[in-house]
Amino acid sequence: MAHGLNPAQHAAVETLSGPLLVLAGAGTGKTRVVTHRIANLIRHRIKPDRILAVTFTRKAAGEMQERAMALLSTGGKGKGKPKKPKVRPQISTFHALCVQVLRRHIVKLGYPPQFAICDRGDQESLARAALREIRVPEDSLRPGDLLAIISGWKSRSLRPAQAASVAASDREHLAAAGYRRYQSSLKARGMVDFDDLLLCTEELFVNHPAIRREEAGKFDHVLVDEYQDTNGSQYRIVKALAMAHRNLCVVGDDDQSIYGWRGAEVEHILRFKEDWPDAMVVRLEENYRSAGAILEYANTLIAFNKKRHDKVLRPARGAGQRPAIMQLPDETLEAERIVGDIQMQLTQPGVKANDFAILCRTNEQPRAFETELRRLKLPYILVGGQSFFDRKEVRDLLAYLKTIENPTDETALLRIINTPPRGIGNATVKQLLSEAVSRGEPMWNVLREAASGGGASGTAIGKFLRLIGELREIADRGAPIDKLVDAVVDRVQYRRDLERLYPDPMEREARTASIEELINAGAAHVKGRKAKKESEGAEPSLLREFLDDVALGGSDNRDDKEDQLQKNAIALMTLHSAKGLEFPYVYMVGMEEGILPHKRTLEMPDDSQIDEERRLCYVGVTRAQEKLTLSFALTRRKWGKPRETVPSRFLYEMTGQAENAAKARRAGTAAHAPPKKHPAAKGGRGAKGAKSKSPRR
Ligand code: ATP
Ligand code: MG
Repeated sequence: MAHGLNPAQHAAVETLSGPLLVLAGAGTGKTRVVTHRIANLIRHRIKPDRILAVTFTRKAAGEMQERAMALLSTGGKGKGKPKKPKVRPQISTFHALCVQVLRRHIVKLGYPPQFAICDRGDQESLARAALREIRVPEDSLRPGDLLAIISGWKSRSLRPAQAASVAASDREHLAAAGYRRYQSSLKARGMVDFDDLLLCTEELFVNHPAIRREEAGKFDHVLVDEYQDTNGSQYRIVKALAMAHRNLCVVGDDDQSIYGWRGAEVEHILRFKEDWPDAMVVRLEENYRSAGAILEYANTLIAFNKKRHDKVLRPARGAGQRPAIMQLPDETLEAERIVGDIQMQLTQPGVKANDFAILCRTNEQPRAFETELRRLKLPYILVGGQSFFDRKEVRDLLAYLKTIENPTDETALLRIINTPPRGIGNATVKQLLSEAVSRGEPMWNVLREAASGGGASGTAIGKFLRLIGELREIADRGAPIDKLVDAVVDRVQYRRDLERLYPDPMEREARTASIEELINAGAAHVKGRKAKKESEGAEPSLLREFLDDVALGGSDNRDDKEDQLQKNAIALMTLHSAKGLEFPYVYMVGMEEGILPHKRTLEMPDDSQIDEERRLCYVGVTRAQEKLTLSFALTRRKWGKPRETVPSRFLYEMTGQAENAAKARRAGTAAHAPPKKHPAAKGGRGAKGAKSKSPRR
């Protein structure tokens, strides 16, 4: 078939208008359909900038952009050499799309156009403050819990008033009160959080039809990948953008819906035909990605989910190698063996580091693997764990940039006012804050007055204001971000502070390295911007744009550094962030009850959460192309003490031992049963067998 498309894919790609749904299993070429379709639309003279494609991660967006452009430049029908179009289709994440809309229109909702996007750390401090204001002690509701509840409400498009009316328990009533405070302090600071990006966009579209028309009018075609993971707001935003032209193509797989906990509703994809009755529906049944034996595991596993739409998924390739199951005595040895195994494979010709992925369920798991990868000096990249942007030093420096860009960003201001210490003590800050609150004025104004008030703290504040003023001048002169970061580090003597805080040279080196990375990110941004085509409308400042970018790279969409996956490194990532990707060699580690399925889901009364864990496991398994390795440790440390584990029920399910899965389920919940050697496992307590793994092909 032309360009490597099977007849069903071809039909989807050649359908140039109207609603279109591709509902198909993993690795069947859904994303390929989206990419080819974009290229095909352009070939049929649709202007590239009239096409909008939405994906869930920035990496996916970048890849799609690249692939579509590559398809166009290799040309379709042979005649002549089609030139690369000068304007590009807009391919972005939902959140990035919303930032653009909001920059243009958020004033209508009472926010300043230069609104800031609040990161996780900011959110936590606002949540903490909100709880303090309503006098809720931390042991009845922790800031993190409050944020989780708020996020749940927001993803169902509930504003504080509505939240109060749906709150069912005491805890939820407290949370609703907290939500109200949290939201008003966000707004007072001209800030939005991640969920607000979607929520505010939706609100604009609903309450201001002219804005909806204007925004929808920018495109004639909308394509959405991973549609099974859209939440209510995203669903309505897509609908609002497509309702006039009806050229909406969505692709997805209900078996890979893994964001239910964040309000995604798989119903959206299953109901597509009801929303768009004339939709063409394409099903793809051949999996081109994985060797047959891997696919068999995947198919067997997912069949255990009761609520699902049965799909055919046939291997397009031969059986290949059987997945391996490795059983190790503890989590340290698990990391050693797996990384050792990778090192061994890497000695074979043609095998590269970026052929490998180690997939984890939790954020704690990677640590052991990182240690081991470092020890063996293997290149790796951690994706989706603690973000680079969550490190203290990075957050400090970003807070400087934010303050420079927007003096009313008080969260940022408060973070740096005495960091590094400059003689503006806690008591002074408190006093200034309460002054600002009682006068209802921005902190910045109060600072200015305090500076002229004299006294030791007055002098210190004066110096601080001058410092920020000077840095702002540098920014206003249009200094590239890397130079600006450099200037901040230099003028605030940040390195000296690192020396003070971290006497351990190793630690200090790591901290310094993250400063370097931030400078690199700044430089990369400047370069990226130069390469980008001018977009219409008012350009935000270079610094604003950088901060937006960082904010969008933060939280769950933070895969800025995923660019480096293309560079040659082993990917160490969470299952959630592996969605849509593929690797020749995949290691799924920590296959234990309490990890996968996650312990949070074990106590749940109904099975829906376990089903979501099973889908997550399915996503992991279906990332593998040539070889899948599943591992578990017989003991795992908890609070420093080794505890016996129970192999994941999913291991038994995949290998067709349902009765053992039931035992694992009971043992896992009781958490006391002696671990049993998994019948299909290699290795053992001595773990010697783990080495004698099946040879490559
Ligand atoms: P996922 O559900 O994991 O997102 P997907 O359905 O989006 O998977 P793709 O990533 O588009 O699948 O494709 C999976 C792999 O199969 C890719 O390597 C792709 O290049 C390859 N592929 C897809 N269609 C074909 C085809 N018709 N012929 C050969 N290879 C194909
Ligand atoms: Mg895909």
